Amino acid sequence: MNDSLSSNILQSSEIISTFPEISIVVPIYNEVESLSHLIDAIALTLQSNQLNYEIICVDDGSSDGSTEKLRQLAKERNDLRAVLLRRNYGQTPAMAAGFQYAKGRTIVTLDGDLQNDPADIPELMAKLDEGYDLVSGWRKQRQDDAVTRLLPSKIANWLIGKVTEVKLHDYGCSLKAYRAELVADMNLYGELHRFLPALAYIEGAKITELPVRHHARRFGKSKYGLGRTFRVLMDLLTIYFMKKFLTKPMHGFGLLGMISMLLGIVLGAYLTFLKLGLGQSIGNRPLLILAVLLFLTGVQLFSFGLLAELMMRTYHESQKRPIYRVRDVVG
Ligand code: UDP
Ligand code: MG
Repeated sequence: MNDSLSSNILQSSEIISTFPEISIVVPIYNEVESLSHLIDAIALTLQSNQLNYEIICVDDGSSDGSTEKLRQLAKERNDLRAVLLRRNYGQTPAMAAGFQYAKGRTIVTLDGDLQNDPADIPELMAKLDEGYDLVSGWRKQRQDDAVTRLLPSKIANWLIGKVTEVKLHDYGCSLKAYRAELVADMNLYGELHRFLPALAYIEGAKITELPVRHHARRFGKSKYGLGRTFRVLMDLLTIYFMKKFLTKPMHGFGLLGMISMLLGIVLGAYLTFLKLGLGQSIGNRPLLILAVLLFLTGVQLFSFGLLAELMMRTYHESQKRPIYRVRDVVG
């Protein structure tokens, strides 16, 4: 009797631990001093709000002892899982790995450096419950360097807004809450994690934002410099083309190719008429070069469109291959 009771309790606690309501996903790269503060702060907020949660820390190949610290913490606490990547892949793959292991119906992401405040999580959750699929944090009073961080980010935010049609003040804020279905089938590459709202929007998600706290870094240092601005711009271009042409590349390239080919044919016909009909010499006319160029470019663009169409299909239909390899999962 005692046995069946305890096995019942075991079962119900198992159910809770396999299906937490919220998964908190945190990418960690050399944040050893922040780790215990961070995990304590998350646990405190969520427990005092009676939320059922799991914390998934993804160690992105740290070299400062974060890996060992995480291993140890994950063994000590049952609300923490540590996913340890083999090497440093970058913040986006680290987050993608976290999504892979998250079991909650809601996923909340935040940085591991204590710049985001876990105390904001309940408010994000409440907003999500109003019927949104994604609630993005807005660091209204951001505590970062003005010249190297705030200015590029202002420009980037403006550009991203223009290109993606998702109107947020702060795309770069890691503190975000998602419905799990939303992230489940999104493939992330490059530094696309900041474009998750845009990708989600392409998938038809309902998106909103909420002002959140932001603190200056207490430990360690930022992993990024100005170089990120360039990479973000390149990713933005990718998003732009994905949004416009991903499922219909022929619409873009095919049309351009047809126009170019037609112009080439018309010019060619005109030159042929001059040569055969009027007996003029056309061998040294720039127009001849233009006609040939237009025709060939047209053929190239057109066949490129066809190829892109094939590749798009392979892209969509092929198996989902992860962009990371996990060394170990603790806890
Ligand atoms: N990060 C990571 N892999 C990297 C770089 C960063 O997992 O290659 C993590 C980092 O540990 C932190 C978050 O991503 O939790 C954001 O990084 P950081 O604080 O350096 O960015 P910033 O706040 O300066 O934009
Ligand atoms: Mg930071």
